[in-house]
Amino acid sequence: MEYKRLGNAGIKVSALSLGSWITYGKQVDVDTAAASLKAAYDEGVNFFDNAEAYEAGKSEEIMGAALRKLGWRRGSYLVSTKFFWGLRENPNEWHTLNRKYLLEAIDGSLKRFGLDYVDLIFCHRPDPDTPIEETVFAMSDIIASGKTLYWGTSEWSADQLVEAYAVAERHHLRKPQMEQPQYNLFVRDRVEKEYARLYTGLGLGLTTWSPLASGVLSGKYNDGIPEGSRLALSGYDWLKSSAMTRDRLDSVKRLEPIMRELGCTTAQLALAWCARNPNVSTVITGASRPEQVKENMKAMDIVAKLDDSVMKRIEEAVPDHE
Ligand code: NDP
Repeated sequence: MEYKRLGNAGIKVSALSLGSWITYGKQVDVDTAAASLKAAYDEGVNFFDNAEAYEAGKSEEIMGAALRKLGWRRGSYLVSTKFFWGLRENPNEWHTLNRKYLLEAIDGSLKRFGLDYVDLIFCHRPDPDTPIEETVFAMSDIIASGKTLYWGTSEWSADQLVEAYAVAERHHLRKPQMEQPQYNLFVRDRVEKEYARLYTGLGLGLTTWSPLASGVLSGKYNDGIPEGSRLALSGYDWLKSSAMTRDRLDSVKRLEPIMRELGCTTAQLALAWCARNPNVSTVITGASRPEQVKENMKAMDIVAKLDDSVMKRIEEAVPDHE
């Protein structure tokens, strides 16, 4: 496994990490979660991603219980969570980054995890109703309380990040250290264009999400929707219609000769493509079982094979992206 600095922070994250969205609490229990976490950890993964909103807190409970079961030394891994969506639908606890919500939310997360601190916390989306200054103060105060070590954002615009950074600098507060955007063969512009000025400018690190576009880039949906797969889950029609379009499926089929030549799977090719980007600190993978983790971690062997000519062929295979 390769380890990369989280932007200009001293902390290093494994180039591939593992997250729990949809999976923990919806598809898998503590035992399967622990088996997947172990498969990743055994391959050198040191970062596990979570969020308050994932299965309304159940995902944090399951990951916490799995970590207790595994009994790893706390210094050997990083855990994250994210705040914004909220667990209770009322004006101050729902779709917000106000100070009261954030200070309550961190305590709720730590309790569900059963941890003394989480390493990284993210503002899960921007909140147009709370001044960025209020959020920066709250995140900085959470770091000062020792309940987390670094804070960052998820799907904030470059301008919002620049503003948050300026507020922190002006008031000598903790600066946002990392952003969590979507990044895969189909969704690239934010990482490659919009944020381009922030990597050296602000020392921003990236923990990117949905590297397989919810599994579509594994090729498993090429001939329909397999039973038990994410896009077969009830309540996720919105995801199915955005993730599994005809254009995308055609692109995945065009990747097949490339992956055959490289001697890897489509999933490994798609993950290696993300990990190859030097501005991506860690590619957060997802998996509903340990076998997928084992397959996906081997993507690191493919990164070096993605030379300019292979990258050109991948580009031709996936001409449509945003
Ligand atoms: P992916 O796009 O990689 O999708 C992962 C899913 O694809 C798995 O759960 C599994 O689903 C399927 N899969 C994975 N590997 C394979 C394989 N080798 N062969 C076949 N199927 C496979 O990642 P996610 O969308 O899960 O995102 C990764 C993480 O990013 C999340 O867990 C979360 O931590 C984070 N995230 C953050 C967001 C944000 O807003 N900040 C938003 C979304 C995710 P199945 O077996 O059920 O079909």
